[in-house]
Amino acid sequence: MKQETTTRDVFAETSLSRQRLARLSELVDATADDELTVRAPATDEPIGTVPACDENDVERAVERARSAQRGWADLSADRRGELLNRFADLVLDHQDELLDIVQLETGKSRAHAVEEVADVPLNCSYYARHGPDYLADDSRQGAIPLATTAEVTSEPVGVVGAISPWNYPLTLSMVDIIPALVAGNAVVLKPDEKTPFIALALVELLDRAGVPGDVVQVVTGRGADVGPSLVGGVDYIAFTGSTETGRIIAEQAGRNLIGCSLELGGNNPLVVLDDANVETAARGAVQACFTNAGQLCLAAERIYVHESLFEEFLDAFVGATRRLSLGTEFTYGPDVGSLIDEDQLARVEDHVSSAVEDGATVLTGGRHRPDVGPFCYEPTILTDVAADTTVACEETFGPVVTVESVPDAETAVTKANDSEYGLNASVWTGDRDRGRALAREIDCGTVCVNDGYVSGWAAIDAPMGGFGDSGLGRRHGRAGIERFLESRTVASSRVGPLTEPPSVSSQWYARGLLALSRFQRQLSGVPVFGRWFS
Ligand code: NAD
Repeated sequence: MKQETTTRDVFAETSLSRQRLARLSELVDATADDELTVRAPATDEPIGTVPACDENDVERAVERARSAQRGWADLSADRRGELLNRFADLVLDHQDELLDIVQLETGKSRAHAVEEVADVPLNCSYYARHGPDYLADDSRQGAIPLATTAEVTSEPVGVVGAISPWNYPLTLSMVDIIPALVAGNAVVLKPDEKTPFIALALVELLDRAGVPGDVVQVVTGRGADVGPSLVGGVDYIAFTGSTETGRIIAEQAGRNLIGCSLELGGNNPLVVLDDANVETAARGAVQACFTNAGQLCLAAERIYVHESLFEEFLDAFVGATRRLSLGTEFTYGPDVGSLIDEDQLARVEDHVSSAVEDGATVLTGGRHRPDVGPFCYEPTILTDVAADTTVACEETFGPVVTVESVPDAETAVTKANDSEYGLNASVWTGDRDRGRALAREIDCGTVCVNDGYVSGWAAIDAPMGGFGDSGLGRRHGRAGIERFLESRTVASSRVGPLTEPPSVSSQWYARGLLALSRFQRQLSGVPVFGRWFS
């Protein structure tokens, strides 16, 4: 599959043109002269430019979003959901162009890009359907049953900032924006420098769906330049990216006393128990490790296999991995695409070469393939990996996995938990109940049994996020929208102020108060009564 990258015109293989990308770039309102050049990983050729926004551009975007937010919040949650469902239809109608943009900017295979497009309508339908219930006023037990009441109202926080990474630029922008919008917020999105065009194409579709113009703004620019003013201006920041940047965002959010959710890195374990079906586990491991060339926060990077199945599993896994095709075509042909750029390639090469220096064996892969694409790297399986080598301890974020034999399930769990991260884990077994019980011992925000990551990610009703260095907060489900809300408790008294009446001494009042407190404690032991009195 040799390709002359210098003569290849990637635009000719897609529905896109340089003019189309230039029009998308005009959607950014920037006065700064500086620009960012975006390159296609398939050829490493420049494909277009976008403004490198500065502090003033960000401030203006936040101001415009703030003015537009009030009108947006005045619409009912049902109406906001309706507009997002219309947006979901437009995403499906324009899937070919969106897939082309995702592939052009990221170099991923079309088969992996399609997961991104399919994810947006799922999120839109979920929050359009459940959002209104999550936002509804909620009556709670008052301080003194019958005498007082308490009601909780939910208000949008105002303007949400979303910072997204390059690996899933479509999904990971929209997964936060959709619930933020249904909650009645305006949003300022900062996409990664390498993948701004997909964000702009989505904002164009939101506009066509009827979401008022200024409610969603995009600021393109370098993270370190744009980040501080964005975090400084908004009321909540939803960040997805590396743990290192996540710590910077958390510090800035802390100084400004705004909430933040941080969806960060992982070094995810996959455990094959002694009763697993080896062929199924190997097929699942291929997907878990090599989707998007391993540039997936949920990807498995460490596999622990029960010793009784180790050789059989390795045969099946190595065989299935060798059958994967590598390529950068804009068709459903190649199984695995390119890495994003030379930095990512250098990181992968470094992790593999230092593991080999430390004694690791390469069972398959381990080679850069410039003949396929400038940043293509073969899916790679390593064994005999030293516990303290970089590939074992750090996130590689590439198509590289280590496989180790373990004597029992307990050892597998101990090794799985031996990480600062805790994002996603996968357990393979013939007994799902056993798998679900073992999952409770693994310190990760999501554990998938007999699946790599899709069943966890696509369970949109269930929260998703990380333990430890993998982040703070949760996206998806009720938690995924509640982070974008302020709650207000409205308490009222039917008996006037809750203080001693003028005719009662402080001493008698104190006795009454403590007796009431005792009575309440007794009632609270009988939940049915507690509920009746609320
Ligand atoms: P990164 O942190 O360098 O960049 C992510 C985003 O943050 C980009 O938009 C970037 O421009 C911006 N940014 C960079 N510096 C900033 C700063 N000082 N202030 C504000 N914004 C700044 O991440 P990356 O290395 O490009 O992305 C890959 C990482 O993201 C991996 O570690 C991966 O595991 C993680 N990730 C996590 C999830 C998740 O859901 N947990 C999903 C995808 C990727």
